[in-house]
Amino acid sequence: MNMAQPKIQVPDIAAQVSYAMRQMGVAPIPRNYELFYEAYLGSNPKLTKELASLGSRATQEELDAIGAQYFGRHQNQAMQGAHGRIVSELQDLLSLLKDEQSALENYNRVLEETHSRITSKNASSVDLLRNAIGVLSEATGTTMAQGKVTVEGVEAKSREMEDIRKELDEYKRIANTDSLTRLYNRRAFDDRLATIYDNQRGRTSALVICDIDHFKRINDTYGHPVGDKILATVGNIIKGTVRKDAFVARTGGEEFAIILDLTTADDAFSIAERVRKALETTPFKNSRTGMNYGPVTLSMGLCMASQADDPQDLYLKTDIALYCAKTAGRNRSALFEDGMKKEPSKSWLLYKK
Ligand code: GH3
Ligand code: MG
Ligand code: MG
Repeated sequence: MNMAQPKIQVPDIAAQVSYAMRQMGVAPIPRNYELFYEAYLGSNPKLTKELASLGSRATQEELDAIGAQYFGRHQNQAMQGAHGRIVSELQDLLSLLKDEQSALENYNRVLEETHSRITSKNASSVDLLRNAIGVLSEATGTTMAQGKVTVEGVEAKSREMEDIRKELDEYKRIANTDSLTRLYNRRAFDDRLATIYDNQRGRTSALVICDIDHFKRINDTYGHPVGDKILATVGNIIKGTVRKDAFVARTGGEEFAIILDLTTADDAFSIAERVRKALETTPFKNSRTGMNYGPVTLSMGLCMASQADDPQDLYLKTDIALYCAKTAGRNRSALFEDGMKKEPSKSWLLYKK
């Protein structure tokens, strides 16, 4: 018997569903499959009719609207929205942490894993959170331990840096200090003078140069060591008489300079006079021998920064004012004025002859 059995046509539903979806230009995503599968089975004629009415240009919104109507997709979409927000929040957090911890490779590796897990489409929001929190807390624990080592390392390094900084500060202090008077030295003065015109504030500065009168005589009469002691005392008196913020330096053998900021010519003049009088009235007596080395007096030259063009000009004009105080009889202060001149020195005149 060779009776041909009639072949039973088993419809390949999946193939037909995807064919129909392709024809309608519908995206091949699970929720669209579900919709077309239902329509194909015809279990809900209304759904089939509505889907068919969309024609060949169904938009995803129209499809989702039908899905929402027949499958309660609203809930699903709300869940998906939350899922999306959680994913995006976590991604933001992760990228923050990644930025923070970019040096910690290990932590980053764990973060990468977490990242791929949370972006996996299959994970439910709850699974995803549980996963992410678990991995993050584990990674954070490791990072904190690692971080402690890092922090200790950084602390040790900063302590070392602090020591080096202190050493350098000390070298700088020594390099800028005059060993006899403990005041700033010429080098520090030159640096300070050079910055006077750096900002507008400098225009209100005054330069005072103080020079001990006939100091050569003191040296010649009492000897160099006594001269040194007198220099140290003069330095102390100047420093102790001016305002705290005044810059005081020993700029040469028996020459001192004071820089006063935010001052007027009148104020600068009265400060100079106060210093001069303080020295004039200071007894220079040797308590053991009763010998009196005094009086020791100072001549002062002053110039306001606003009267000069630059640091060199300011120093030059102050020096001219000092010269005038000397030639006018010493033990006095003179403020620079236009027309003041410093006569050529005797040695220069000899050279001319
Ligand atoms: P004037 O009133 O014109 O300023 O006269 P002066 O004698 O003070 O000026 P001069 O420039 O002729 O002499 C300064 C003297 O200062 C010469 C030098 O022996 C002395 N001198 C410079 N540096 C030091 C120092 O470090 N220690 C001592 N003891 N004397 C110094
Ligand atoms: Mg002198
Ligand atoms: Mg001098």
